[in-house]
Order: sequence, then C-alpha cells, then structure tokens
Amino acid sequence: IQWFPGHMAKARNQVQEKLKLVDIVLEIVDARIPISSQNPMLAEIIEHKPKIMILNKADLADPKQTEVWQAYFKQQGYASIAIDAQHKSQLPQINKVVRTVLKDKIQKQYDKGLKLAKVRAICIGIPNVGKSTILNRLVHKNIAKTGDRPGVTKNQQWLKVNEEFEVLDTPGILWPKFEDQTVGTKLALLGSIKDSIYADDDVALFALDYLKTHYAPRLLAAYKLNEADLDQDNPDLMLFLTKKLGFKEDYDQFAQRLILDIRKGRFGRLTFEDVVLATDTVGD
Ligand code: GDP
Repeated sequence: IQWFPGHMAKARNQVQEKLKLVDIVLEIVDARIPISSQNPMLAEIIEHKPKIMILNKADLADPKQTEVWQAYFKQQGYASIAIDAQHKSQLPQINKVVRTVLKDKIQKQYDKGLKLAKVRAICIGIPNVGKSTILNRLVHKNIAKTGDRPGVTKNQQWLKVNEEFEVLDTPGILWPKFEDQTVGTKLALLGSIKDSIYADDDVALFALDYLKTHYAPRLLAAYKLNEADLDQDNPDLMLFLTKKLGFKEDYDQFAQRLILDIRKGRFGRLTFEDVVLATDTVGD
C-alpha cells in the first residue's frame, strides 16, 4: 500500500464516519512495536470513545516486554490484551475485556429495564497488524479481506460476535507514523511495509544494534560469536558477520539474511521497542 496525502485524507474521513457508529474501538497494534504500529491520527479523531489496545502477534514478541507494554497502556488508561490472532482459543478474552470496559453502559441498560442493545465495535489499525485475521476470528467466519486501499466503500454491515457484541465488517485502516525514520525501519524489519522502501543494510544495521544492546546472548548464540566480537562498532560488526557467515564482502546478502533470521524467529521472540514505566506497576 502506498499512502499519498489524498489517500490519507480519505482514510481519515472514512474512519471518522465509522467511529460515529460504534461504542468502542479495538485498536490493533503489533506487540513487537506497540508504538510504531500505532497511527498518529487516531487519538485526534477518536474523541472520547472507549478504546481497547490489542497487542497482536504476541506469539512473536518478547513476553516480558509485552507485560511491560500492557502495564504502560494501563497507565495510559487503556485496557489491553495480548493475543495471537492465528489461534482462536484466545479470542474469548476480547469479549471479556469489551464487557469489562463497557460494564457501566451495560449495567445502566439493565437498571432501566431496557432490552440490552448490542455493543458495537470496530477494529482499527495500520496495514498488516492483523485486523482481518482478528475480525475473522471474532465472527468465526472467513470474510474476504477488503483491499488495504481506503476509498473502497460499500454498505457497512454488522457482524455478530455474540448476543451482546457486534463488530463492523470492515476494519478502519490508517497509516503509520512515516515521518519518523525509525518507525519506517522497524516496519520494514518486520515485513509490514514493502522491503524496497528502506534499504536492507539500514534495516539490518538497526536490527543488529538492537540485538546487541537488548538481546546480546541470543545474538552470540545464533551466530556463534565471542563476547569481544561485540566490541566492534556496528558497521565493522556487520562486515565481520558478513565474512563469518560466508558472504565474503557482500554486505547486502548478510543484511537480508539477518532480517530473515529475525522474521523466522531464529533469535526467539523479540520486541523492538522499550518503554520505561512511570512507576513499577508490572504485574498489578
Ligand atoms: P491486516 O492488514 O491488518 O488486516 O492484517 P492481516 O490480518 O492480513 O494479517 C497480516 C499477516 O499477519 C498475515 O500473514 C497473518 O497471517 C499474520 N498474522 C495475523 N495475526 C497474527 C498473529 O497474531 N501472529 C502471527 N504470527 N501472525 C499473525
């Protein structure tokens, strides 16, 4: 998907229209980069709608970091859940969180003796975070994936999740924070934007630095390095690894290999964004 200013304006308007129809927003992010996979515009257009943060692809993310991120979102005032949308077993959680967040609204309807109106939700996120996968899981169906292109409008339909809860049949698609170079690099690293936009060696350099500073033991083990090897600066280390892995002087080939190794889980479950909590509330 290519975002041009016209697309962005259109996407924003569409999401704004859809937001009017719902009680609650499910914002989907990639658990490995919970900030970089957020959309810069959503906070502005969401106004006072309740929002639940869904940290998807948690199966690929560092579980310790995911816990810290959930504590962070809690500090920000948001309920969150970490899931692997590929496995349906985890989805009752979404339902439970939706109910908890909306319990006052639901209780009021009961108190007034009203027939319970269905809670209406929408999934929103940038491309590739797993919106369609989640939607399909939620409704136990295979809904054709609508193109990522904003502008393909059709009649909105509500899909039944259960007796109390329904979800809009098309997700809200917004763009990432492209103006930040690191965001683009991270999205490219995780395969969420076209590889061709960012040079492999830049992406690999970022990744290598991150592994070195956050996951050194795994880097040492995966490429059979000595601790002293990591004393080199990053470009030197890149070249060292290029040779060590048999790519001679072909920096780019090593870059591609490193990116693939990361995506394929050779280093285990990784999170590429840190957060420092205001106070230590992990596990609250
Ligand atoms: P969308 O563009 O936000 O609708 O994203 P999709 O639902 O099309 O998912 C993008 C890719 O991520 C697909 O290849 C999915 O199979 C994959 N995917 C979605 N959710 C998960 C998850 O929780 N874990 C893993 N490992 N892959 C996922």
